[in-house]
Amino acid sequence: MSPAWPGDAGTGLGYASAMSCDGGHLRALVNVLDRLAAALEAHRQLAGRADPGLDLAMRRLDDEHAVARSAVDSCADCASGWAQVELQTAIRNLHGCESRWVETVHVREEHHGDKVWEGDVEVFELVGHPAAKRAYAWSEPGMGKRRRFFAALHVPPVDSPAKAVQGSIFVDVQTLEKAKRALS
Ligand SMILES: [Zn+2]
Repeated sequence: MSPAWPGDAGTGLGYASAMSCDGGHLRALVNVLDRLAAALEAHRQLAGRADPGLDLAMRRLDDEHAVARSAVDSCADCASGWAQVELQTAIRNLHGCESRWVETVHVREEHHGDKVWEGDVEVFELVGHPAAKRAYAWSEPGMGKRRRFFAALHVPPVDSPAKAVQGSIFVDVQTLEKAKRALS
């Protein structure tokens, strides 16, 4: 069975041979991001001291980043691989562990026959998390160009991608109610 996602090797960089792109756009983007992270670390260590050479290098890396990013956005295979990298980053940030992609599950949530949510949820196996073996992750359009990332652990009562989505909708409703109360 061929993987549905180019990044199924778990690093986000493993590619199936059936893909029309070999993942070069994504590798280029990850390479720029690695160098950008190293430059940012060097900048942090300067602690305010001037380094014109580093400033110039960082400006060049910013330009390179913009070019690499738009190349990924315009390649369907690499955009899909990048989406996985972003979800794995969200899992790392929210739950502090690495993950391996398992499968994509389509979820449709209805309330009295009306669709309230529909989309793909990615299932990840967690590496070394103390409380959960799996996480359910997805992203949604947020404010402006930003996306909101969700990563719910497989812990009761969340035992499926649909339950993870239901939980996030519940949290949104609670936030909305809170906001309404604050305004009234
Ligand atoms: Zn590509």
